[in-house]
Amino acid sequence: MTYRSAEGGRIERNRPLSFSFNGKRYVGYAGDTLASALLANGVAVVARSWKYHRPRGIVACGVEEPNALVQLETGARTTPNARATEVELYEGLTATSVNCWPSVDHDWMALSGMFGRLMPAGFYYKTFMWPKSLWMRYEHYIRKASGLGVAPAIPDADRYDKMNAHCDVLVVGGGPAGLAAALAAGRSGARVMLVDEQNEFGGSLLRTANATTSIQPTAIGGMTPLAWVDRTVAELAGLPEVRMLRRSTAFGYHDHNFVTINERRCEHLPPDQRNGARERVWRVRAGQVVLATGAIERPLVFGNNDRPGIMLASAVSAYVNRYAVRPGTRAVIFTSNDSAYQSALDLVAAGIPVAAVVDPRRNASGALPARVRAAGIEIIDNAVIVNARGRRRVRGVDVATLTADGERVTGLARTIACDAVGVSGGWSPVVHLHAQSGGRPRYDELRACFVPGESVQDERSAGACNGSFQLHECVSEGLAAGAEAARRTGHGDGAPIPGPAIATTTEEPMRALWLVPSNRANQRGPKRFVDLQNDVTAADIQLAAREGYRSIEHVKRYTALGFGTDQGKLGNINGMAILAQALGNDIPSTGTTTFRPNYTPVTFGAIAGRDLGDLFEPIRKTALHEWHVEHGAVFENVGQWKRPWYYPKVGETMHEAVNRECLATRSGVSIMDASTLGKIDIQGPDAAAFLNLVYTNAWSKLAVGRCRYGLMLDENGMAMDDGVTTRLAENHYLMTTTTGGAARVMAWLERWLQTEWPHLKVYLTSVTDHWATAAVVGPGSRRVVQAVCQDIDFSGEAFPFMSYRQGTAAGIPARVMRISFSGELAYEVNVCANDARHVWEALMAAGEPYDITPYGTEAMHVLRAEKGFIIIGQDTDGSVTPVDLGMQWIIAKGKEFIGRRSLARSDTAREGRKQLVGLLAEDPNDVLPEGSPVVEDAKAPTPVPMLGHVTSSYFSACLGRSIALALVKDGTKRMGKTVHVPLPDGKMLRAVVASSVFIDPEGARQNV
Ligand SMILES: Cc1cc2nc3c(=O)[nH]c(=O)nc-3n(C[C@H](O)[C@H](O)[C@H](O)COP(=O)(O)OP(=O)(O)OC[C@H]3O[C@@H](n4cnc5c(N)ncnc54)[C@H](O)[C@@H]3O)c2cc1C
Repeated sequence: MTYRSAEGGRIERNRPLSFSFNGKRYVGYAGDTLASALLANGVAVVARSWKYHRPRGIVACGVEEPNALVQLETGARTTPNARATEVELYEGLTATSVNCWPSVDHDWMALSGMFGRLMPAGFYYKTFMWPKSLWMRYEHYIRKASGLGVAPAIPDADRYDKMNAHCDVLVVGGGPAGLAAALAAGRSGARVMLVDEQNEFGGSLLRTANATTSIQPTAIGGMTPLAWVDRTVAELAGLPEVRMLRRSTAFGYHDHNFVTINERRCEHLPPDQRNGARERVWRVRAGQVVLATGAIERPLVFGNNDRPGIMLASAVSAYVNRYAVRPGTRAVIFTSNDSAYQSALDLVAAGIPVAAVVDPRRNASGALPARVRAAGIEIIDNAVIVNARGRRRVRGVDVATLTADGERVTGLARTIACDAVGVSGGWSPVVHLHAQSGGRPRYDELRACFVPGESVQDERSAGACNGSFQLHECVSEGLAAGAEAARRTGHGDGAPIPGPAIATTTEEPMRALWLVPSNRANQRGPKRFVDLQNDVTAADIQLAAREGYRSIEHVKRYTALGFGTDQGKLGNINGMAILAQALGNDIPSTGTTTFRPNYTPVTFGAIAGRDLGDLFEPIRKTALHEWHVEHGAVFENVGQWKRPWYYPKVGETMHEAVNRECLATRSGVSIMDASTLGKIDIQGPDAAAFLNLVYTNAWSKLAVGRCRYGLMLDENGMAMDDGVTTRLAENHYLMTTTTGGAARVMAWLERWLQTEWPHLKVYLTSVTDHWATAAVVGPGSRRVVQAVCQDIDFSGEAFPFMSYRQGTAAGIPARVMRISFSGELAYEVNVCANDARHVWEALMAAGEPYDITPYGTEAMHVLRAEKGFIIIGQDTDGSVTPVDLGMQWIIAKGKEFIGRRSLARSDTAREGRKQLVGLLAEDPNDVLPEGSPVVEDAKAPTPVPMLGHVTSSYFSACLGRSIALALVKDGTKRMGKTVHVPLPDGKMLRAVVASSVFIDPEGARQNV
């Protein structure tokens, strides 16, 4: 028996393609999907179900396919869980079924299906709770049994791209509504993007036969629907401002009309013919969005409705008309609405007998049922299919009469032999993107579906996704939506362009039939599946309701309804309605689950794009990087920056180099590249008021030319960043931030300015990269900077500590600050980054007579720790207030600032908080490991109460001993007391709590 019609379809019969499925070779044609090619080869069982491992066949013809998930290709190019209905066939394609062992035909796990009745919803939660000790063993097996496809184990061989784009009107969906919208907007001159997930434009029209006959009666402007599609696509392609993307799914609709689109660029080609990026993520900002995403047909929930050969009626039409596939030899249609009658006509036109159309309505009298009757097909009114026979393929259906209230069936069931069943329980508009945009879909009682609610962004829906299912409505709504969207972006007058003539057809209202009554005693009949992908049955949902679940969101989690790659495209509305029935609620009050991005799965490759390996995170180098390389620096990563860590001389260890750099700083002169510090230029008449709000201390009285240290808190009153800010002019400040915190602080300040204090006239500019900074440090620093910056008076009186002067350095305009992070006399020389090396070398030359020593971040850390200067993020961890740090002096009284009120909370003001203190190890050669716990009693039984932990710890060459900073509970009250620091090897070090300032507590050295 052949499952391919001799003629028709959109396949290229002169291009046969061979492919392999589960190790067996088959032949299909260009234009096939893997699903259509498998059906055309008579392959009925393509998968095993997730929980019960029941044999499953192809159900749909698009993204809504729940069963036919395959492992596509092998090795580096393997893709798990690809939907066979979306995989375009190419020569040499290889695919295998997932979730079965050893094969899809003989799956050992199917044994679990025999105990299916013992495995209701919540089975795992209920069963594996005891004995608790065995959980780890259970988990091992549950994990092995769970999941579907297998993630690739070797690196992806392909490249992926990202593209940013702007347009006036973005149209999502290229069916009749979307094509009409794009045409109307495109003709107005607007920049239009039209995207569709399929390989061809036309949407649901692609499943129509290419003829206007009594079987396929609809014509658009006198043409067949497909001829109209071709003409429209050709016109759009000729409009210069219209960009059309096929194989492109809009998968996320975010704020400010930001839509993410995944374009699959060469998936349809054999791997060896793929050129360029495999997928591209478009990040589109659209002035207006028109959603024309169509509708998805709903299955009907009846006994054994998962048998291979049972598919959506629309899929039957698609396989017959688009792919010239014969889904069976004798079919039955089961529908609660008129649209599936078209599938009966399509089958007959393809020469496949239709045994009957089963319709729960009393007397279907619309135009399509009339044609079906005229074609001599039996219509069984007021009836339902209660059970499907057969296991690996449907062999027949049991049809019974429905009672008037629709609650039960009566009489003896009549069995009709068939090997294909088309089902239709109505249509669900694809409202996913509307919901993602913030809209709330509302329930439409008449059409028995959720339709888009009010738009909350610049967005409108047209066509079937708007609940307007007739073709003439789709086209006219599309034209109107496109014209209006264009008008709103300044193109055209919004008047719809004239549309083609399309006949209207009479339709009988559908009958909402969420759950087909069983003809067997309650809970005894065959399984009635609601969610085929997750093996959720009507009984599972009813059980959840009996067990007290009320919210659809909870029922979803309990039963797995709508989980996985499918996200409930087929099952959710039925499931929700069955829950509503079980709870005695109406559907609107039961509501839907939340539609979140992604609409369909997106590969990790597409999400990562080129941000891989070395490109995963940008590497930032200072303008002096090459100099550091030439002088043997060893680098460390600080945020994204490469910073010199230390400069070892030949034969020197790190420890020796750092000691030498520290000693040189305290006794002579040294130099450090401090360019990575974050720098934010702050201007505007309210700049001082702004600083007052973001820093804990007062800024109004800071004189022009002076610098001040500032500490920033978050809303919880916890230290979040610090740095020195200089008043360059009356309304002009330069703020410095920590290296790692620069971007975060910039975003933080902007956020407050834009959301809470928009009335403040303050403008922020990040200038971190614009300026290079050389810190010249040590008792000899004054002589060095004076030699290089000859137009600045560096005497102590003329240029006091914490002040700023403008002048030149080696002829280059320079900003010089006298500030210190080491406690020594020190100057920071800032010049334009392009001139950094020139000035740095001038400073090195001027310092040569004094043996100027470059030093890195390690020495910087030691020097600042000797002075007790904190590093945010090292000595703090988001739970430390200024009081904990012993920095009460920096909290101004009588002014507002971020975090102020939190400092008065009972928890932040209580006794017993951890405070920053110094620790001196009993043995001065012991350097306490950073991060080590600090405990009071070395012999306390476990769990030993922790007092805190070591935050910074170094060997201080200047002091000839180790020093450490630590956060210790009630630290200041413990001054002079001994605490213990346990080491991983079991040793216990003793240390004495001391002041956190180890050198020059009076600050005499920096005030010279
Ligand atoms: C109940 C019912 C009754 C009908 N009655 C009639 C009738 O009486 N007469 C008649 O002529 N026709 C009838 N039709 C068929 C009618 O032709 C279709 O409803 C119409 O073609 C839908 O057009 P559309 O453009 O809104 O959606 P579709 O043609 O379905 O197009 C939507 C397109 O958007 C794509 N898409 C969806 N989501 C995305 C995304 N996120 N990113 C990219 N692409 C996406 C889809 O793949 C598809 O290509 C009926 C249909 C139904 C359902």
